[in-house]
Parts: sequence; structure tokens; C-alpha cells
Amino acid sequence: MASLVRVSATGLRTLDDLGDVAGQRVLVRVDFNVPLDDGAVADDTRIRLAIPTLQALRERGARLLLVSHLGRPKGPDPQWSLRPIADHLAGLLGEEVVLAPGLGDVPAGELVMLENIRFEAGETKNDPALAARLGALADAYVNDAFGSAHRAHASTEGIVHHVERSVAGLLFAREVQTLARLLDEPRRPLVAVLGGAKAGDKIGVINRFLEIADTLLLGGGMSYPFFAVSGRRIGRSLCDEAGLEAARDVLARPGTEGRLRLPVDLVVADDFSADARLRVSDPIDVDDDWEAIDIGPRTRELYARAIREAGTVFWNGPVGAFEIEPFAAGTHAIARAVAETEAITVVGGGDSGAALTRFGLQDRVTHLSTGGGAALEFIEGRVLPGVAALTGP
Ligand code: ADP
Ligand code: MG
Repeated sequence: MASLVRVSATGLRTLDDLGDVAGQRVLVRVDFNVPLDDGAVADDTRIRLAIPTLQALRERGARLLLVSHLGRPKGPDPQWSLRPIADHLAGLLGEEVVLAPGLGDVPAGELVMLENIRFEAGETKNDPALAARLGALADAYVNDAFGSAHRAHASTEGIVHHVERSVAGLLFAREVQTLARLLDEPRRPLVAVLGGAKAGDKIGVINRFLEIADTLLLGGGMSYPFFAVSGRRIGRSLCDEAGLEAARDVLARPGTEGRLRLPVDLVVADDFSADARLRVSDPIDVDDDWEAIDIGPRTRELYARAIREAGTVFWNGPVGAFEIEPFAAGTHAIARAVAETEAITVVGGGDSGAALTRFGLQDRVTHLSTGGGAALEFIEGRVLPGVAALTGP
């Protein structure tokens, strides 16, 4: 195993540690799991984000073998072929991308993409035999798929044990460094905004921010169980047993008061549809046939002010059902405040990212994470197998 110099505070090995790759084959794990529409790439954000790493390696003379998954096929399935993605990448780069149909048939070439790695049964089982076959195809391994780093799969973890050199790509390293800085040395005050449908899903993230953040602003469906366990009426608002349990847990923790903030008013609707009747519930007291759908105007103002006064902001999860136009005002107000604050801003989560994009604010944040579940697990403090594999000398 070649010795690698540690350059970053996180101990993650990066492209700077890779050494000479001229004329060598580098296997690059990318996250090209993009939405398709009628066989064409519907959103190529993830593909574009990987290009700096691919270009950096090409400039150093490497021959690239790209490996990605797409969807969740249970074996070879033409519906989940990477063909449209190879074609799309070829268009972006202005050069040919050869699609290799399988591990046994990988042509030499400057730019080769392996067919969907989930066509191999051993991928999600982290089968050592598959990992060894992948490793045998490469002189070095670069992982730029942070969104898959919370899974120990053959192409994200196993392969590292079968190549001499393995490092994180530029996007992967940026994700880890940004999140590590947010957790370890944030510019204060650190304000976290957590929304989304369910508190039960994000209890680990809530608890972590109660430890490290100066202020935690809750919104969206995940806030309603907190009202329910405090004896408020929440009508038909989203709330399940796991959410109630999470809320009881959080409220029983010492130090929660003073850090945790809940909405002071809510927009409530008599139906989950664009033509529902709406009103503001202030103080919070929701009639039996109504349901909370968004934060109210006073909460928008209070949360926006906390975001404006922050040194660092982390935002995950819409604070209302923003996909439906009349219920988007709260999430729009949060997105605008995050875009306008002087703070360092980190946004994680598929739906929060989609909300930012929908409001045209995706370029107005310091870092928009592609990590999804991986970013949330990192924040919870879990060891991500894909990160651990690339950490250390
Ligand atoms: P992310 O993908 O950013 O992590 P989540 O997946 O946790 O976010 O939650 C996003 C979903 O939560 C959105 O689809 C949004 O519509 C929904 N949501 C938030 N608040 C409400 C609400 N009051 N009622 C129904 N759905 C809500
Ligand atoms: Mg989501």
C-alpha cells in the first residue's frame, strides 16, 4: 500500500494524495443516479457536479473507468441502463464515452463507463469477489459519490481493499469538509432549520443539533407532534407514533429549552389541495377537520430574523407542503432568508434542494449538499463506510 500524505483536517485522502496517474486506469465511482424522463436525463445536476473531478484526472493523463448505479434494479434490466447517461455525459464533454456492457468486457480507452453496477448482484452485498474484480480493473480508485457513502457496497467500500491507492474526488471532499466544519468549528451563532414530513425520521439529526447549535428552528410536519405532546389540538395534521415518541424524547432532554424553537403560528387548510380554504392558527389550536400545512406569517418573520443574524446556517427539510403553490410561502421565506444572510449556508436534502431550485436560489448558498441521507447520517455522527474507507494514511 503506497503511503499517502494527509492533507485535510478530516484525514480524508484527496486527489492531492493520489500521486502520478499518467497513462494509468483510474476507476471513478460517480453518482449518476439522476432522474430520467422518457429515456432522457431530466436533471443533470449530479453529472455536472462530477465533471471537475473527471477533468482534473484527465489533465493528469489518467484513463477513466466510470462506475455508477441507477435506480434499484435487481439484476440486468435494460430499463435501468446507463446508456442515456453515457450519451448525456458525452454531450457535456464533447467527446466519446464508451459504455462497457459488463465487467468481463471493459475496453481500453480514455473514457469508459461501466454499465449500471447494480446489475451485479454482489454490489449491494459488498461481495469481496465483486470488489476484487472491480479493483483488478484499476490502478487507482477515486470516489466522488458522497451520496452513496453511507452504504458499504462493493463499489463504494469493498473495492478500497483491492486497489493500491484510493482517494476522495473533489465533490466528495468538499461535502465532507463542509459538513465537518459545520459540526466542529462553525462560525457562531450556528442556526439549524429542520423541516420535512416526519420527526421520527430525523430524531438523530435533531438531537445532534440540540448539542451543537445555538438555535434549532423546527418547522413542517415534524413540528406537529411537539404541539400534540404539549396538549395542543393539531386536528388532522401529520403526526404518527414515532413522531410523538421523538417529540417526548427531545422535550425531556436537558438544555432543550432556550435552543429549540417551534412555530408560533401555522397556516391550516381544510383540504390537502391547491383550492383548499386556508387560515392562520395563532395561537396554535387546529380544529378537528383542518390540518397544518405551513408555518404562519409571524413564524416566517421570526425564523428569517434568526437566519439573518446567524454566523452559520444549516437547513434541511421544507417547513410546509411547498410543492403546492398556496402552501409554499413559509419554505420560500426560509429559502430567501438563507439566500440573503451573510452567514455560511449549507443546505442538505433532496426536497430542500428542490425547493431552492424551484425558487431560483440554488446558486445563492455556500454549499448545496448532494449528500441526502449520507449527509444526515454524517451529521448524526455515524461512521459512513465510504468515508471511513478513504480516511487515514
Ligand atoms: P428533505 O428531502 O429535504 O430531507 P423531507 O424528505 O424530510 O425533506 O421532507 C420533505 C417533504 O415534507 C416535502 O415533500 C413536503 O411537502 C413535506 N412536508 C413538510 N411539511 C408538510 C406539511 N405540513 N404537510 C404535509 N407535508 C409536509
Ligand atoms: Mg426527501
